[in-house]
Amino acid sequence: MRLVLLGGPGSGKGTQADVLKKKYNIAKLSTGDLLRGEITNNTELGKQAKSYMDKGELVPDSVMISILDKKTIEFEAKKQGYILDGFPRTVPQAEALLEMLKKQDVTLTMALLIDVPEHELVRRLSSRWTCKNCSATVGYPDGKPDDAICSQCGGEIYQRDDDKKETIENRMDVYMKNTAPLIGFFRNKGLLESVDGFGSLEQITQRIIMLFTEKDIV
Ligand SMILES: [Zn+2]
Repeated sequence: MRLVLLGGPGSGKGTQADVLKKKYNIAKLSTGDLLRGEITNNTELGKQAKSYMDKGELVPDSVMISILDKKTIEFEAKKQGYILDGFPRTVPQAEALLEMLKKQDVTLTMALLIDVPEHELVRRLSSRWTCKNCSATVGYPDGKPDDAICSQCGGEIYQRDDDKKETIENRMDVYMKNTAPLIGFFRNKGLLESVDGFGSLEQITQRIIMLFTEKDIV
C-alpha cells in the first residue's frame, strides 16, 4: 500500500498514520525525518539539502523527491507499504510524486482525506492550553472554564502563541491556499477517498479500516 494522507492541521492525520503503521505493518515516511537522516549521514542529497537550509531557503521539491525516491525504492524492494506524512503539501509536489511513482512503475494506492470542516479544525486547534508549571497540555474544545487548572499538577494554564486564534487562522490560510487544492487534484486523478473526521480517534480509525476492507487493500 502506498498512501498519502490528507487533512488540515488538527485533523488527527498524524495520529491516524501512527495507528495504521502498527496495524498494517507499513512504514510512516516523514519528509522531515528523511531530510534529517540524509543530513546526519552526510549523503550527497543531504549536502544539497543543507546548502539551501544554511542559506535560510526551503529545500527544493526536486531534492525532496530525490530523497523520497531513494527511500521508497528501498521499501519496494522489501515489498513493504508506506504512508507519506507531511508530503505532498502543494499541487506541484503531488505532480512530482506521481511522476516519481510512474518512473518506479508503481501506482499510488490512494490519497485518503480525513474530512473535517475548516471551522471545526479552528475550534480544535484553538482549544489547547498549556500548564505554566509542568507543560502538560489540555484541550477545551467547548471553551475553557474560568477556574480551569492543570489536572497533572494544579498549576496555572495559559495559551501558547502557537495555539492562539490569530496564529491558527494564519496556519489555516496557508493550508487552504496551498494544501487544500490537493483534494481536487487527487479527485481528478481518481485517487481520492475520504472518511468523516468527526468523532473519536478510534471511530475514525474504524472508518479507515472499513474503507480499506471495502477496497480490498491491506
Ligand atoms: Zn501542570
